[in-house]
Amino acid sequence: MKEILSDRTKLIDSSGIRKVFALAALLKDPVNFSIGQPDFDVPELLKEEAIKAIKAGQNKYSQTAGDAILKERIAEEVRDEFGWSEPAVLVASGVSGGLLLAFLALINPDDEVIIPDPYFVIYKHIINMLGGRCVFVDSYPNFELPIEKIADAITNKTKMIILNSPCNPTGVVYSEQQIKALAKITAEKGILILTDEIYERFCYDGECPSIADYYEKTLVLRGFSKSYAMTGWRLGYVAASESLKDVVEEMTKIQQYTFVCAPTPFQKAAVAAMDYETSDFVDAYRKKRDLLYEGLKDKFELVKPSGAFYAFVKAPSGSGTEFVEKAIANNVLVIPGNVFSEKDTHFRISYATSDEKIQEGIEILRRL
Ligand code: PMP
Repeated sequence: MKEILSDRTKLIDSSGIRKVFALAALLKDPVNFSIGQPDFDVPELLKEEAIKAIKAGQNKYSQTAGDAILKERIAEEVRDEFGWSEPAVLVASGVSGGLLLAFLALINPDDEVIIPDPYFVIYKHIINMLGGRCVFVDSYPNFELPIEKIADAITNKTKMIILNSPCNPTGVVYSEQQIKALAKITAEKGILILTDEIYERFCYDGECPSIADYYEKTLVLRGFSKSYAMTGWRLGYVAASESLKDVVEEMTKIQQYTFVCAPTPFQKAAVAAMDYETSDFVDAYRKKRDLLYEGLKDKFELVKPSGAFYAFVKAPSGSGTEFVEKAIANNVLVIPGNVFSEKDTHFRISYATSDEKIQEGIEILRRL
């Protein structure tokens, strides 16, 4: 069997996560701190919009770049936010879909992509599959944007820099000052930035600034999965200023031959989602963040997360993987840090679960 597989399949290693899921299958009613999706359901109003669209027969392909009304609504949003007069917009099958299209459109073999470490898993694996080179810059122990290290990592092969704020797995939000400093460096060299802002709404301590506000050559990727708990609806978008119109057009061309389009009835519902007030969810998640952080801070080394729904915690002894094995043996599912990092010193907690389960998880972790 192995011989028929392409060489690129060997570049993907999902063993860390697989191990957790295999162990998880053996547990009864565990504290599940491993899930990367909200614990609430899609709001009723948005479900109704999707049902209405399906019943109205809006079940065929949409335009490749997305439903015209949704695209216009997204364009309006980024025009207002970033002051782009004629934004380029592409509706994708989730942010994951947008990432694949961006990397396919931009990365040649040996191109270098600078990524702060820890990082969201998808980036590394797709870039490796395309023959690109990930250049990781260490952001331990506070996980802030490592500006000087990024500046030092830039070479004439650097194709882009990836930012993810609020960050999965650390929950850290980059400050305006850090973002501005990076924008200054990239502007001098004309380097493209890809900013993955899927958690932009899960922002607990003031604003979550976007580098797109300070730097034109930025591809913004945002999604619907997390903000409205519609991870299964597969919707996200790519937006950029006119200066990157050609890139978005090439990505659209690739979408035409791959995903074809994002799911049509859900695109209709997404128009309503963009006007849906999510502050109640965010308030509830801020409380969960507080509960978790207050419950662990005196026993563990962790940075207080300001966004997303993750905390990246240092293993008190041994490697991240060893600690995770111990946690799972005690009925708490967490993910080892080396799934998101070149280091194996931490573990990731997702607190997207009930307050009772968070409390139970805290108590168990404190005892380990
Ligand atoms: N980026 C980040 C940082 C994520 O955490 C996720 C989901 N875990 C995605 C992108 C992909 O989300 P989706 O494809 O559902 O939009």
